Amino acid sequence: MSELTGVIFDIKRFAVHDGPGIRTTVFFKGCPLRCMWCHNPESLSIRRQIVFFENKCIGCGECFKRCKNGAVVATPEGRKYYRDKCTLCGTCVEYCYAEATVMQGRIATVDEVVEEVKKDMPFYENSNGGVTLSGGEPTMQPEFCIAVLAECKKANMHTALDTSGFVKTEILTEILKYVDLVLYDIKHTDPEKHKKYTGVSNELILYNLQHINNVEIPIEIRIPTIPNINDSEENFSEVAKLVNNLNSIERVRLLPYHRLGEGKYERLEMEYKLKGLESPNKARMEELVEMLKSKLTRDIPVSAS
Ligand code: SF4
Ligand code: SF4
Repeated sequence: MSELTGVIFDIKRFAVHDGPGIRTTVFFKGCPLRCMWCHNPESLSIRRQIVFFENKCIGCGECFKRCKNGAVVATPEGRKYYRDKCTLCGTCVEYCYAEATVMQGRIATVDEVVEEVKKDMPFYENSNGGVTLSGGEPTMQPEFCIAVLAECKKANMHTALDTSGFVKTEILTEILKYVDLVLYDIKHTDPEKHKKYTGVSNELILYNLQHINNVEIPIEIRIPTIPNINDSEENFSEVAKLVNNLNSIERVRLLPYHRLGEGKYERLEMEYKLKGLESPNKARMEELVEMLKSKLTRDIPVSAS
């Protein structure tokens, strides 16, 4: 039994794109990167957050009346929320029957998470599936991450870690003791461009990729494919060099850029920096898959999904 807690923002059952078979994906809150295309901005802060859906609000005023901190108030321009005054007590959420005010993220114990994940054991067994820790960046909560993975391994589950790789190598090494598959993002191979578009350099990320390869844990490379940012032939040539040299890489997936997260930025009072950028169409994604395949010297699956 573990009462250790962490902050998660979702648990998705019956996931089929987060590793082999049918899986349950646990989304951790908190990420050290700020990728301009992130479609889960609610995952970035490690703290829970209050989010307001204006289209659901029925104007009952319960949130203003109940908040003891003056963090949500009525103004002539409408409802105003002051994040700096909010203690995340949750009272406004509890009394918002229209579900216009919601809490993004929750504090969960290791046992709560593992019990939820265990519910689908028969599906994992029949499909060679398991559990995937994703986010956000799960390694930002290392103790919680290790404890969840260790309990899942005790229950004989296949475990996958979906990570940006931006984590101290010593911490990653501890986590990897409980991991069967790593889903590893390569966002850009050029350190300067990586810093420009994600907020951090890729040096540690590439070092950790080499480290995972050396300890021989299977790796699936994931490339969020963003038009005019990382879809150049030059970048794909560098990706191919990595894949050709690292034998633990068993698969590459290109993840097409989409704008489904754009609306969330406004609700979180954040700026979406890629406004107006169009998603690549199917033909373009197929072209990129073929381009990458043509540069590989090892026969591994490459797909766009
Ligand atoms: S409690 Fe909910 S529905 Fe009522 S005013 Fe506040 S946000 Fe709107
Ligand atoms: S979570 Fe608590 S402090 Fe924050 S706005 Fe709601 S009632 Fe006020």
